[in-house]
Amino acid sequence: MELLGVPQNTIAILQKYQFNFQKKFGQNFLIDTRVLERIIKASGVTKEDFVLEIGPGIGTMTQYLCEAARSVVAVEIDRKLIPILEETLAQYRNVTVLNEDILNVDIARMIREHNEGKPIKVVANLPYYITTPIIMGLFESRVPIDCITVMVQKEVADRMQSGPGTKDYGALSLAVQYYSIPEIVANVPPNCFIPRPKVGSAVIRLTCRKEMSVIVEDERLMFEIIRASFNQRRKTLANGLSHAPGISLPKETIQSCIAESGVSLTVRGEALTLEQFAQLSNIICRRKRGEGSRTY
Ligand code: SAM
Repeated sequence: MELLGVPQNTIAILQKYQFNFQKKFGQNFLIDTRVLERIIKASGVTKEDFVLEIGPGIGTMTQYLCEAARSVVAVEIDRKLIPILEETLAQYRNVTVLNEDILNVDIARMIREHNEGKPIKVVANLPYYITTPIIMGLFESRVPIDCITVMVQKEVADRMQSGPGTKDYGALSLAVQYYSIPEIVANVPPNCFIPRPKVGSAVIRLTCRKEMSVIVEDERLMFEIIRASFNQRRKTLANGLSHAPGISLPKETIQSCIAESGVSLTVRGEALTLEQFAQLSNIICRRKRGEGSRTY
């Protein structure tokens, strides 16, 4: 089978199967061999690795992954793509295609069955409409993952990588940086895809942290605090948090927790680092448990 990264080969297979792109599945297929090579290189996949690919499409990147990895499982929701994948991946013995919604796949079980429970690599040109649920699902499920190398909307990649005080900084930045070290490795223009997306794209590598960089007593509470701080960007932290239903402490208590954490009472959430959010959430957590304002 010819490489599908070459545009004529992609067009030929799409015509052969009279394939109609499904907008609802975020189908934009890569047609640029240099971008594909860049993704594979950034992912660091070797013949030792088991790779999970999300949304193989017609198998363009899967072909590269089969060459580079020991074994690949590719999860594709669109059943019309399955017969195409059978043809385009026919020469590879190290790939399994699953016709499923990635959000319903038991990834922990997959890792146990295919990789003896050892860390896997995830590589994908993601369907943009579910980027956040896919990435957060992978992180929050705590399955063993070495790194996630994905094509996402450029704006989303910027948000994942940005730090305090920038316009792109928000709940997604903090969540991604809590679980991983993000690095944008390439910007990819719309003409590298068929059909062309309306937005710019970027490849980002998220290297999963083996040890967390901050100690958090109650992760759910910390992310609740983070979300509440950014939901009300114009308000000071104290105001934002005292209106958040999940926190449910009087404004005075919240002010006292903020003071105890050492940040200014007039600060806005967007100025706080992950370390500061972690510290504040640990103080609020103890206060909610009724442990007063002792320092530990
Ligand atoms: N990997 C191919 C490439 O690079 O050319 C296709 C990438 S395309 C941006 C996204 C792919 O994800 C499509 O094939 C789409 O059908 C598939 N997809 C969309 N939603 C999905 C889901 N919930 N689970 C699995 N695959 C999904």
